[in-house]
Amino acid sequence: MNREKLAGVLPRAELDIAAVMPQVAPICEDVRRRGTAAVREYTARFDGVDLATTRVAHELMAHALAALDPRVRAALEEAARRARAVHEAQRPADHVTTVSPGARVTERYVPVGRAGVYVPAGLVPLPSSVIMNVIPAQVAGVRRIAVASPPRPEHDGMPAPAILAACALLGVTEVHAAGGAQAIAMFAYGTADCPAADMVTGPGNVYVTAAKRLMLGTIGTDAEAGPTEVAIIADHTANPVFVAADLIAQAEHDPLAACLLITTDPVLARRTDEALTAQVAAARHAERIRAALGGQSACVLVDDTSAALAVSDAWSPEHLEIQAENAAGLAARVRNAGAVFVGPYAPVSLGDYLAGSNHVLPTGGTARYSSGLSVLSFLRGIHVVDYSAAALAEVAPHIDALGGAEDLAAHVAAVRARVPRDDVPIGYLPGDPRPAAPAPGGTQPTEPEPAEPESANPGPAQAQPDAPEAKAAGQPRPATGLPIRPDLAGGTPYGAPQLNVPVRLNTNENPYPMSRWLAGKIGDAVAAQVGSLNRYPDRDARALRADLAAYLGHGLTGQEVWAANGSNEIIQQVLQTFGGPGRTALGFEPSYAMHPLIARATATSWVKSPRDPGFGLDADQAAAAVREHQPDLVILTSPNNPTGAATPLNVVEAVCAAAPGMVVVDEAYAEFARDQAGTALTLLPRYPRLMVTRTMSKAFALAGARVGYLAASAEVVDALLLVRLPYHLSTLTQAVARAALEHQRDLLASVGTLRVQRDSLVEWLRDRGLSAADSDANFVLFGRFSDSHAVWQALLDRGVLVRETGPAGWLRVSVGLPDEMKAFRDALTEVLAGQTTNGERQ
Ligand code: PMP
Repeated sequence: MNREKLAGVLPRAELDIAAVMPQVAPICEDVRRRGTAAVREYTARFDGVDLATTRVAHELMAHALAALDPRVRAALEEAARRARAVHEAQRPADHVTTVSPGARVTERYVPVGRAGVYVPAGLVPLPSSVIMNVIPAQVAGVRRIAVASPPRPEHDGMPAPAILAACALLGVTEVHAAGGAQAIAMFAYGTADCPAADMVTGPGNVYVTAAKRLMLGTIGTDAEAGPTEVAIIADHTANPVFVAADLIAQAEHDPLAACLLITTDPVLARRTDEALTAQVAAARHAERIRAALGGQSACVLVDDTSAALAVSDAWSPEHLEIQAENAAGLAARVRNAGAVFVGPYAPVSLGDYLAGSNHVLPTGGTARYSSGLSVLSFLRGIHVVDYSAAALAEVAPHIDALGGAEDLAAHVAAVRARVPRDDVPIGYLPGDPRPAAPAPGGTQPTEPEPAEPESANPGPAQAQPDAPEAKAAGQPRPATGLPIRPDLAGGTPYGAPQLNVPVRLNTNENPYPMSRWLAGKIGDAVAAQVGSLNRYPDRDARALRADLAAYLGHGLTGQEVWAANGSNEIIQQVLQTFGGPGRTALGFEPSYAMHPLIARATATSWVKSPRDPGFGLDADQAAAAVREHQPDLVILTSPNNPTGAATPLNVVEAVCAAAPGMVVVDEAYAEFARDQAGTALTLLPRYPRLMVTRTMSKAFALAGARVGYLAASAEVVDALLLVRLPYHLSTLTQAVARAALEHQRDLLASVGTLRVQRDSLVEWLRDRGLSAADSDANFVLFGRFSDSHAVWQALLDRGVLVRETGPAGWLRVSVGLPDEMKAFRDALTEVLAGQTTNGERQ
């Protein structure tokens, strides 16, 4: 039999809520219109009590608690303790999901403002009901909880003292003497005595249930409580006395209670029947019990426990007891039930009072789609959506597509007002000056700018022979007759050509400038310091180092972080401290060309070991080089410049393990890495001689501010103090860096976009038949050209400046703004079109 058929034949009392609606609706409406006066009239009519106010005096509650039987009080206290423990565990933590960089959705759980708890007077007063409703609300953090319970003439026109005592015990201070539909309407609409609630829970008779249904929408409610019910799955191992006792206990609640025995054993069925006869005869509420057991109750004989589970699931009981072999295993297979009671020692009566579980459970088959009262019933999960400009830009095309498909043009427009479709740089506000568009072919007149020490240019810069900068940078100096240190004489100063062409993709800067708003913020931070420029800065940049440590995470403190003017200066200080005359530093080339230059400046011997032809480095090869050269310092670059890929952590570890001295991992481009977990910061606790350098020049888009930093042990940081110049980091630099860190989310917003653009650039280059190295940085090394200089020059002629660096035949291009990338692609397409392809280009 399928579920529908089974459910159709299994008994269940009907609760005809619709039938009482004609009586309930006018009551609710009257309370809405007349408030307190209407509640008073209905209370007089239905409860036989005339009350000037529904509010129960505090003294009365205190008195009820004082007069409570100490054993009942102890039981309520223990029940409350257990319920609190179980419900505390239900409280969900707010959780934050980062769906992509800069795109966060937080689920914040907020309790309802005010909850009304209805406690029926019923056939017997149920102080346990107070516990089961009030505790989840309290644990959820509901600040204002009010209880309503019908007044009774036999209790001097007040709710039952046991209920008042339970409220007092739990610290509920607001109790109303009101019952029935008028009490629910009072909570829904509010009266002079009782402010409106946001949510009402608690069981009640058919009038209460009808009023809750009617008020739904005006207030939230818990599930509609119908007559209580139990199903017991029992096999030959079950004790018929227990089974009968539990059926009777359920039947005792209500003549409409439903009790279903589902058994695989006809003998058990017969014995249970015998036990029932004996126990019902002796029961206190025998009449009610007989009505329930004789009405909507039954015994179902099944072939096996799987069939028993199918019957139970079809009926979807409020309570399910399993008194059978492997009860826990069967319980794990239950699909539909309000609560499951496992084995012979977990009767429903335990759950009604003291198990710690909640006894407000779904009835009438609603367990198929709902659960019992819990902390969640009183909480709302609020989605807090927090997207940066870059993150919105990432999904904007999808919103175009969906908005288009649903013909909701204004939806698309709302997004495109923020992310214009022509790819205006992120961070730009309307009115911001935009970078010049690339000229349609031809080199722009060049205007030399101040030297920019981004990195060394090992090749000569012949682009603009007339530009003084081009002459100065990258050219061997003629002999001057000056008494220069012999190891420097005849050397080449560094400097990439700083040519004022429209598209400059040669220095690995972040092309997205900060927004005007952020520039204002950073300007304010600087302005705040200008007045104190008569003083030297904090020599140790303590506040900045603490901020940098917090940014890096990994448990680092300010004592384990050092800062300087760019990571170049950091590396210089490292070489001054741990290198120097007579000492050796080892690097794996091709790599960042400044490393050997700084080694030279600090009179440190430079030893290079080659990367493999694909620019990779494997752990054995790296460790072997370290063992061979026994350097005082090893410099690894990860992601590597100019090749792009990150150096795997196992290589860093192998180097750390083999190195006799210090190891530096230059992580200037770490934020762009495809695997954010691959940072050497994770290795710091294990290798006290490891240093990790970083910079704000790249991901933070702050190359002009000159802020680099290092993470290492506090001992290493202390050692660097030996060589730093006093006050090396200006007050203004420190202020800018700290303000930038404060707004890191905005500044780093472009990182995601750049990564995406980088990956599509790699793909595009490969589609053109070129080689492009995998990149974890904001640039791509591409080739191979038989005459890469000619390609470089041809691109420059078209207004696009890339970098001649790294291995012969390759060029490096930084990821620029979308229109700059388009200019690069167009220019390169043109250049390639004029060339032949046979393995190598041109
Ligand atoms: N390390 C690497 C690998 C780099 O490429 C660069 C700059 N291009 C730096 C360090 C230095 O950056 P800065 O001095 O601006 O921090």
